[in-house]
Amino acid sequence: MNIITDPTELQRQCLTWRKQGHSIGLVPTMGYLHHGHTSLIGRARPECDRLVVSVFVNPTQFGENEDLSSYPRDFESDRAKAEAQGVDLLFAPEPGAMYEANHATWVEVPRLAIHLCGATRPVHFRGVCTVVTKLFMLTQAEVAVFGEKDWQQLAVLRRMVRDLNIPIRLIGHPIVREEDGLALSSRNAYLTKEERAAAPNIRKGLLKLAEKAKAGERDCAALKRFLAEEFAATLPMGEVDYIEIVDPDEISPITTIARSGLAAVAVRMGKARLIDNILIEG
Ligand code: AMP
Repeated sequence: MNIITDPTELQRQCLTWRKQGHSIGLVPTMGYLHHGHTSLIGRARPECDRLVVSVFVNPTQFGENEDLSSYPRDFESDRAKAEAQGVDLLFAPEPGAMYEANHATWVEVPRLAIHLCGATRPVHFRGVCTVVTKLFMLTQAEVAVFGEKDWQQLAVLRRMVRDLNIPIRLIGHPIVREEDGLALSSRNAYLTKEERAAAPNIRKGLLKLAEKAKAGERDCAALKRFLAEEFAATLPMGEVDYIEIVDPDEISPITTIARSGLAAVAVRMGKARLIDNILIEG
């Protein structure tokens, strides 16, 4: 496996591969790889001839009071996991290599970034769109895989790719979970034992909400109230950032589930901010 830290070198290598007729796949990550990341890599592997994984804790997607400096990092473990998954190239740049001191260009999809995580993380999706565009330009990838755990991110990126005619195919991958239902996340490392024990109740609450919707409750206000009560009872140490039901493509709140709705939540537990979602269809 090739390890590259210099963006220009990455671009050169990928252009060489393209000229040789190889297709390139990309899985962008912030590292501290877990089974969620490795399933994305496994999903991407058969889709391309050369697979690039990036490990980059992108500073521009963190707000001022967020966990940029404490975000968990373990490059040696990431390297070993990527290699074991058959990754061809691991791209691990320093922030200064990705952003010149006078960096001034941003890519944004503002209308899809108003609600859910965008509401409390105002610069987040602008940072994501910008870094992902840079990675698309650097790699010339034909396919990229993103997780549905970050559903809003995937919706934003799909819109960006469509609106800007970026020649890449995006694949969404289902949420990978612990046995007890907790969605895998690098930030789970922040949880205390007590918080970790309660955290699966996020998923349990969402499943109950989906059951209620299937049983006929289509009023979003009632469903959200129900979930807020569930969380109050089962996650006493959790502080709800949002409980929302949105149109799955537009990421705008809906009042009634007609065709489909995405129930999405963010809950702060101690140092961690955990997100999860469930798609309600039919
Ligand atoms: P991150 O390193 O958290 O930025 O995540 C990198 C990619 O992995 C994103 O596309 C995430 O949506 C995806 N991802 C992270 N956790 C999971 C999970 N538990 N299941 C599926 N995809 C995930």
